[in-house]
Amino acid sequence: MSTTVPRIVMKFGGTSVANLERIRAVAEKVRKQVDAGCEVAVVVSAMSGVTNLLVGYCEELSALHDPREYDSVVSTGEQVTSGLLAIALQALGINARSWLGWQIPLLTDDAHGKARIESIDGQALIASMAAGQVPVIAGFQGIDPAGRITTLGRGGSDTSAVALAAALHADRCDIYTDVDGIYTTDPRIVAKARKLDKITYEEMLELASVGAKVLQTRSVELAMKKRVRVQVLSSFTDGPAPSEGHLPGSIVVDEDEIVEKELVAGIAYSRDEAKISVRRVPDRPGIAAAVFGPLTEANVNVDMIVQSTGDDGMTNITFTVGKTDFARATRALEEARDVIHYGELATDDDVVKISVVGVGMRSHTGVANTMFRTLSERNINVQVISTSEIKVSVLIAAEYTELAVRALHAAYGLDAA
Ligand code: ADP
Ligand code: ASP
Ligand code: MG
Repeated sequence: MSTTVPRIVMKFGGTSVANLERIRAVAEKVRKQVDAGCEVAVVVSAMSGVTNLLVGYCEELSALHDPREYDSVVSTGEQVTSGLLAIALQALGINARSWLGWQIPLLTDDAHGKARIESIDGQALIASMAAGQVPVIAGFQGIDPAGRITTLGRGGSDTSAVALAAALHADRCDIYTDVDGIYTTDPRIVAKARKLDKITYEEMLELASVGAKVLQTRSVELAMKKRVRVQVLSSFTDGPAPSEGHLPGSIVVDEDEIVEKELVAGIAYSRDEAKISVRRVPDRPGIAAAVFGPLTEANVNVDMIVQSTGDDGMTNITFTVGKTDFARATRALEEARDVIHYGELATDDDVVKISVVGVGMRSHTGVANTMFRTLSERNINVQVISTSEIKVSVLIAAEYTELAVRALHAAYGLDAA
């Protein structure tokens, strides 16, 4: 429900607020929208590097720290930037104030470190905007039912912004970052990556979930569910003039808004996975359950899986887990050795998962084959494969990341002219 005055949420990521000069530049960007007559709510991340520093402090004091205290510590980065940006806006003569998660309130569940937003009361913020004020909201944080501070997982300010856009019935959620849009792959590793004017919710969701960190996965999920119009754009440049026929950034849209559909929308990589092989396991019914049971109990998420059977009655099961679960997964399997009766446990965390994503895969075959052929031409060994309706992923040695992504980008005809 939009009012006659356009209402927008503007979110600025870590590099966009990295220092005072950048914060002043952000204040200018906000001023432009205010001057254009928009009601604006701003969401900010911590200054770049700050969250990593705070996470590092917690880990150094104790590997098994209390997650509630972790949240209390790591949420502070956003508190600092929200106050600083409010000051910078006030210095421009704009009526602005900072808001922390609990002041809104933004309520979450109690999964500390990766909490989910349950509800947002938008009334106070709407009243503030109606009175001509710009709320500057600390992203990434909320409070749980017990009143403790929570954080939403790394990259969570994107999700704060989308959730707020939904709660405030905003016309748009603009995500300002250090690149000028969503590209066919990470423009930092492929110079020929091409900016997409539009991408479907589904493709962006899949790309985010396999490693394209330009938007947090949950933010896309939420945008899709709540029909929030999300736009990604640069906080460093103004982008091309509208008259040039290009959008300043990239918009996430429904499939029917895209006229020319490509077979592959994009390629992503993730260095967040590690490989575990359980070797020489007697090949009998129930063996997969015996291997994965202890992992489920240890709260480990398994991603890719392959099983290869020899002709000697033995089998090997290889799979990947998130790097943060790696130590826990290995320990759980070592403890279950006498139940599983495996010959050897082999691990490797020097791997990368490369994924190609596109809704075109539903109706066209050959995408996986092109992937395997391209990698084999470069002598890159594929260790594990997994597929879904609109995605093919392979696990390869981490040293080939750039080579593989660039070769695939060219092979699918994605290279910019
Ligand atoms: P912010 O701090 O603004 O949230 P992030 O670092 O979280 O920014 O996300 C932006 C980064 O995402 C870019 O600098 C880029 O390296 C990376 N990225 C990965 N895949 C893509 C993609 N397909 N399109 C654009 N950026 C991407
Ligand atoms: N500052 C948090 C992080 O670095 C949240 C965010 O930037 O989105 O993960
Ligand atoms: Mg981010």
